[in-house]
Amino acid sequence: MQYIASLSYGKDSIIIPEICKEHGLPLDRIVHVEIMATDTIPADLPPMMEFKKKADKIIKERYGIEVEHLHTPKSYEEQFYTKYIKGKHIGNFYGFPCVKGAWCNSKLKMVPLSKLNKPNIIQYIGIAADEPNRFHNLTDRKISPLVEYGVTEAMARERAEKLGLLSPIYTQSARGGCWFCHNQSIGQLRLLRKQYPEYWALMLKWDNDSPVIFKPNGMTVHDFDERFRNEDAQLSFFEEMDK
Ligand code: SF4
Repeated sequence: MQYIASLSYGKDSIIIPEICKEHGLPLDRIVHVEIMATDTIPADLPPMMEFKKKADKIIKERYGIEVEHLHTPKSYEEQFYTKYIKGKHIGNFYGFPCVKGAWCNSKLKMVPLSKLNKPNIIQYIGIAADEPNRFHNLTDRKISPLVEYGVTEAMARERAEKLGLLSPIYTQSARGGCWFCHNQSIGQLRLLRKQYPEYWALMLKWDNDSPVIFKPNGMTVHDFDERFRNEDAQLSFFEEMDK
């Protein structure tokens, strides 16, 4: 039997190796699914990529295990421009994922993880003891050491912080998850446009090409762009008035 921890770099999954060490649970491998936005740009923003590098070093030193970064077969952009070969959308390309049944989850995230779905593998996943709404994900081959040993979300955060393994998404306004995510808030989109104009330009390009509207409420990336431009213009007006 092989014991594999699935790492997202969030506070719950990152303390799995520590709980294993503390309670003498077997742990053979630690794996993380690396999503790419394009062939050269990762889906995580630079502060998160830096944190992952730092965390991998701490994990290697403390537990003697090299984190394996499993790559998805395609980048987000490549899948975006892939055409459906059957079904009602045949001939169209995918474009932005729909909120319900988002293809990014099944086509990108789950593909490498499905390889771990074998009878000789036990996966450790990061679900805290006070997250009963996520317990349905647990099976006899998908176990949460946090649930087994009563580790709550707050306890996980505290322990991750002590080990220097708390991701910047909890302490800075850094975004966790893909920077192009259709589920992100207006505030996060505004920040993306301001801090990473080159990524925003890609979002606008994809928006031009997508057969699916970016947000289910009908808002396109161009709509957000116009809104943020108006906000910037108003801000500059008031700054001028204050001079
Ligand atoms: S973070 Fe958003 S874009 Fe990335 S896989 Fe999850 S739902 Fe899809």
